[in-house]
Amino acid sequence: MRLVVVGSSGRMGRMLIKAIAETEDCTLVGAIEHEHSPFVGQDAGALAGLPAPLGIPLSTDPLPLFANCDGVIDFTAPAATLGYAELAAQARIVHVIGTTGLTEPDFEKLRAAARHARIVQSGNMSLGVNLLAGLVKKAAATLGADFDIEILEMHHRMKVDAPSGTALLLGEAAAEGREISLKEHSVRVRDGHTGARERGSIGFATLRGGTVIGDHSVIFAGASERLELVHRAEDRGIFASGAIKAAQWAFKQKPGYYTMTDVLGL
Ligand code: NAP
Repeated sequence: MRLVVVGSSGRMGRMLIKAIAETEDCTLVGAIEHEHSPFVGQDAGALAGLPAPLGIPLSTDPLPLFANCDGVIDFTAPAATLGYAELAAQARIVHVIGTTGLTEPDFEKLRAAARHARIVQSGNMSLGVNLLAGLVKKAAATLGADFDIEILEMHHRMKVDAPSGTALLLGEAAAEGREISLKEHSVRVRDGHTGARERGSIGFATLRGGTVIGDHSVIFAGASERLELVHRAEDRGIFASGAIKAAQWAFKQKPGYYTMTDVLGL
């Protein structure tokens, strides 16, 4: 499968270039950055720390690359992702989206693009977190509203959005299990005299610091017992290999909007 990586000098971009080089049946055919990036023109392989250059310089022009590839993998920023989704739809290719911080209007635009592109979008591309989401859904349904649900996450100091896409994915899973709307029941910030906790709400707490790749805990706190489901990412490689797996899976599907739950058959 011929793949293009956008945001290719980012933390995930470099990891993806390396992972594609190590994946049979996948070839990197293009690497893209925005026009003000200091890395434009540099070799993608050298940037990703591969032993030999790939002969693929970082480019700022997606059009010719999208026209000659099967899929694009995108861990960038919401505005950039929306632009790439339109181009991927025009080229009728696979668009794997790991970018987080997307809003409801953004999702509407992505669903529109998925009429022509094969989009796989997930706030977390790892097998472990997607399995965890299934366990959270089951626990939320089984335990009911006598148990308070709190979602705690920690990420590195450079992360720009909060709560993390993964925390929101886990919140959605809990809300689904409870058969409630996350939007109407989530408490994303607490400060000052907040009053007692509202029964049935789903709380979020965010920690930022150091180089933490991604830790998530879903806590079910009952009257005299507490259940905690935890995932800790130890290497960004798990997101990169998940994204490549998603691209390979989507290559065989019809245009549409998919998530990692579809890819992993969970
Ligand atoms: P990062 O290091 O900041 O990488 C983002 C890259 O995208 C940067 O190189 C950035 O360039 C570039 N970029 C920005 N606008 C662009 C554009 N228009 N065209 C091309 N490239 C553009 O961040 P990261 O840690 O790799 O994370 C990227 C995104 O993926 C975040 O939203 C993060 O939360 C998410 N993420 C998702 C998962 C998952 O499994 N779904 C896992 C990890 C991370 P500049 O730095 O020059 O702005």
